[in-house]
Amino acid sequence: MKTYADFHRHSLNDRDAFWAEQAKRIDWHTPPQQVCDTSRPPFARWFVGGTTNLCHNAVDRHAAARPDDAALIWVSTEVGREIVYSFAQLHEEVQTMAAMLQAQGVGEGDRVLIYMPMIPEAAFAMLACARIGAIHSVVFGGFASVSLASRIDDAAPKLIVSADAGSRGGKVVPYKPLLDEAITLAAHKPERVLMVDRGLAPFTPVAGRDLDYAALRAQHAGAQVPVVWLESNRISYTLYTSGTTGKPKGVQRDVGGYAVALATSMDYVFGGKAGETYFSTSDIGWVVGHSYIVYGPLIAGMATLMYEGLPINPDAAIWWSLVEKYKVTVMFSAPTAVRVLKKHDPALLKRHDLSSLRALFLAGEPLDEPTGRWIAEALGVPIIDNYWQTETGWPLLTVAHHIPGVAPVPTRFGSPGVPMYGYDVQLLDEQTGEPLTEANQKGVLTIAHPLPPGCLQTVWGDDERFVRTYWSSVPGKQVYSTFDWGLRDEDGYTFILGRTDDVINVAGHRLGTREIEECISSHSAIAEVAVVGVADQLKGQVALAFVVLRDPAQASPALEAEVLKHVDGQLGAVARPARVHFVSLLPKTRSGKLLRRALQAVAEGRDPGDLTTLDDPTALAQVKTLLGHRSA
Ligand code: ATP
Ligand code: MG
Repeated sequence: MKTYADFHRHSLNDRDAFWAEQAKRIDWHTPPQQVCDTSRPPFARWFVGGTTNLCHNAVDRHAAARPDDAALIWVSTEVGREIVYSFAQLHEEVQTMAAMLQAQGVGEGDRVLIYMPMIPEAAFAMLACARIGAIHSVVFGGFASVSLASRIDDAAPKLIVSADAGSRGGKVVPYKPLLDEAITLAAHKPERVLMVDRGLAPFTPVAGRDLDYAALRAQHAGAQVPVVWLESNRISYTLYTSGTTGKPKGVQRDVGGYAVALATSMDYVFGGKAGETYFSTSDIGWVVGHSYIVYGPLIAGMATLMYEGLPINPDAAIWWSLVEKYKVTVMFSAPTAVRVLKKHDPALLKRHDLSSLRALFLAGEPLDEPTGRWIAEALGVPIIDNYWQTETGWPLLTVAHHIPGVAPVPTRFGSPGVPMYGYDVQLLDEQTGEPLTEANQKGVLTIAHPLPPGCLQTVWGDDERFVRTYWSSVPGKQVYSTFDWGLRDEDGYTFILGRTDDVINVAGHRLGTREIEECISSHSAIAEVAVVGVADQLKGQVALAFVVLRDPAQASPALEAEVLKHVDGQLGAVARPARVHFVSLLPKTRSGKLLRRALQAVAEGRDPGDLTTLDDPTALAQVKTLLGHRSA
């Protein structure tokens, strides 16, 4: 058996041979002439000259081989419906949608903005775009008009696909008024809006602009739309980052590199097999939804379960009931969702037969050890933390347990794992830009040029921003900065200590907010915690902790003192927060990420900036009131 370290080294040293082999996992109409073109760093072009198509690889080839196997399983606890589409049916729906788009003049390179709830038509629209070479730009359904308008202007779509409404916890969220308002605000006006009418929120179509999906579907039923073969480096889609640290960046992705990267990860990382069911609880508005609800599982020939609803409705066992019913083998979720479940009766996890499930993958935010242990014990399957970004498109750090002939790297709590094949990950000293050679030194997580297949090509419409934002942190070096701060232990496991923006400098000591959070969250009374650094006249910066208790009634000065003592004992007095504030919820983005920059701004009495991605404004209001009372 080879060690994983050897395998990883091989992927870098014999880069072209490695990826040429992986490229065989997908169908090419014409084979690539060059594996990787690095002639114009920091840009990289993968599988140059090869032509392929994402939709063909996700749908057509399986529809031909196994037409009756399940492809898309849609479950909505919001409207109480379940539909299973076979590959043959998915093939048909996607072609019908592609025909509709073509009839509206949408073709190769045209942008289609998708503003949709989690319904099958959203996946049809993405795949239909991929089929005809149109570039999709999915915007998280329910985003406010202003956020949507700026994305409409950036993508300049010819057509928008939308629906009358989404639904959250049984409450209808009308999308159409938000969309109409956004189009009014935007400078760019799309020619057409294709509306899926779910019958949830009545609306009046705009004459000459809005089209009815059901009517067009009937008109184009049975249409045969051949796939458009695209050179590997054509654009498949653009997608915005979550906006946790500032203004979202428009990530642009290719066709061939993405297909190969996903196909490889579906095998090596997820161990998913054709004919099985994959369940990702994310949303198509996020990168996890693109890679591991729509494209990845389908490319691997798996059925993908698309779920519209909350994890706790009708009760906190809903996901597990779906695992049982559809024999899910691989599941993907986020720590924030697990923390929600943790607040409910653990017995709910035992109510269902989960024997089909082989692993649960979690990503998006640091997985704190108590949460990791809780879900590991409750499920009895490996919990696999994986670290990546919208930019990378697939995991950068994790443990790949399914590489033939390679000894699996054991998981280690607190660390997402080790660099994945293809990623030349370097931990650099923030000041000097030099690689850190010793274990347990803290630095910036970077990737050397070229980024592996599947990663962003550039920032949409702004090559200059791509270079300036990601590749300029170490002058004279071609390194991509993740803007995350981490350390590597003696065994090569990487730990993420927070965003570089969130590093605190207390009296000359550099501390990641994540280090302090991890320590505080190990206290048994605590459900969730956010730590931010705020300016301090004496020390430069001090840490402030905002804590959600398992039992809010326990909040007391004594508990605050206890938490502070806990930090003293584990990390030392430099890391001790100036205060521990008890709150009932923390400010998060719509994708469940902590909005530390907003917390920090409020704590320092500054304007919190762009809050369009903030999920629940009451979280910030609470902090404002709390700090206001204190200074009064
Ligand atoms: P923006 O770039 O607009 O500020 P964002 O970085 O939150 O937003 P995403 O691409 O959705 O946008 O998130 C990627 C980031 O999420 C990573 O850079 C990292 O900070 C964090 N992250 C993702 N997975 C993990 C993980 N497993 N452990 C720790 N952090 C993670
Ligand atoms: Mg980011």
